[in-house]
Amino acid sequence: MNVITNYPPTAELQALDSAHHLHPFSHANALAESKPRVITSAKGVWLKDSDGHEIIDGMAGLWCVNIGYGRDELAEVAARQMKELPFYNTFFKTTHIPAIMLAKKLAELAPGDLNQVFFANGGSDANDTNIRLVRTYWAEKGEPQRDVIISRWNAYHGSTIGGASLGGMKGMHGQGGLPIPGIEFIDQPHWWAEGGDMTPEEFGLERARQLEAKIKEIGPERVAAFIAEPIQGAGGVIVPPETYWPEIQRIVKKYDILLIADEVICGFGRTGNWFGSQTVGISPDIMTIAKGLSSGYIPIGGSIVSDRVAEVLRDTEFNHGYTYSGHPVACAVALENLRIIEEEGMIENVRDVTAPYLREKWEALADHPLVGEAKIVGMMASLALTPDKSTRAVFAAETGTAGFICRDRCFANNIIMRSVGDRMIISPPLSITCDEIDILIARARKSLDEAYEKLKADDLL
Ligand code: PMP
Repeated sequence: MNVITNYPPTAELQALDSAHHLHPFSHANALAESKPRVITSAKGVWLKDSDGHEIIDGMAGLWCVNIGYGRDELAEVAARQMKELPFYNTFFKTTHIPAIMLAKKLAELAPGDLNQVFFANGGSDANDTNIRLVRTYWAEKGEPQRDVIISRWNAYHGSTIGGASLGGMKGMHGQGGLPIPGIEFIDQPHWWAEGGDMTPEEFGLERARQLEAKIKEIGPERVAAFIAEPIQGAGGVIVPPETYWPEIQRIVKKYDILLIADEVICGFGRTGNWFGSQTVGISPDIMTIAKGLSSGYIPIGGSIVSDRVAEVLRDTEFNHGYTYSGHPVACAVALENLRIIEEEGMIENVRDVTAPYLREKWEALADHPLVGEAKIVGMMASLALTPDKSTRAVFAAETGTAGFICRDRCFANNIIMRSVGDRMIISPPLSITCDEIDILIARARKSLDEAYEKLKADDLL
């Protein structure tokens, strides 16, 4: 077996990593200096590193390990499928059983008339598919000028040229000449940071109505689609006010604009329903899926498309596809993952037991002097760090490090919690138990206490 169980000492691994491995979203020289933790194995919600630390994974990897680590069933299915049919394409008048069965299962699980699936390798390339798909849809309908897609600042839709263009991360646009033409942006429904004197409800409506204003500015006859995450994930787990999504749904309907729900994080139980669209009460025309589809055990993503859209697409040749679209091993693993989620009642357990338990404990963190707001939906949650909660103050730009300080304390306390600016976020495996939630909360609180003390000592509060 070629599995690495007998590895060199940590320092040697770190030196090799620094010599040869370019990490995503990382400053390589800074990383070499601070030294990455070497994660060696995992079980349930627990990671182990090369120094033997046991770390509770508050992020389910990268929002993806929904069923938890170490489920042998997935490994066994992958091995069986590799022996039976490790690869075959679906381009040239051929198909195979895993792709058929997974597409059928997704059509069953997805709400409404979302019945057809185009497979990709992850979320970014699925969103690239969506750009071409919606533009092709309108061209086929005789409206080729409808090519503009509206997105939101601080959205995350991936790292490919298409995905990063759809995303509203200015730091990403700044590298590599993005966005591509035909992508427009409106502001995000982030009340804590941008709501000013408005109530959350007023603000939700105001932000949704920016969509209508933008459609009118561009010309409704030019707008193809609006894309959004039901709940923004990488932007900081930003939960929109209740008024936001109903108004967005009204507007896309009024102007006959396709609604793309990017479910890459929200899908497959994360929000307490199969899909985030169900949690926020919207009916998208297309859903982007990845991550929880296979619980991250193997790369796979896709676009689930409504009958209305598919009907038009099916009438032409869509000149698009990836070698690994519908990869048989990935499809087989995803099917097994969905079987586990369904048969073990994981989503019901999140909805009825663990998410309410986590909510109570998470919201109690808002009492901490460093925490302004504590937001949570299902198994995704955030804390806003603030120097003054009464005014919703933000740390001075040069401080810029409250989140980093807290994240470093989390690391030291063996809990993975991520920082996005000065927001701390979690998205644990759906399999986390109430006892494990207690551990997670205790470590989070300890890390907040230590970050608070450090900020005070450094005169940053
Ligand atoms: N969309 C959303 C909402 C995401 O959160 C992500 C990844 N964090 C992506 C797309 C991109 O997915 P991937 O990294 O699998 O390409």
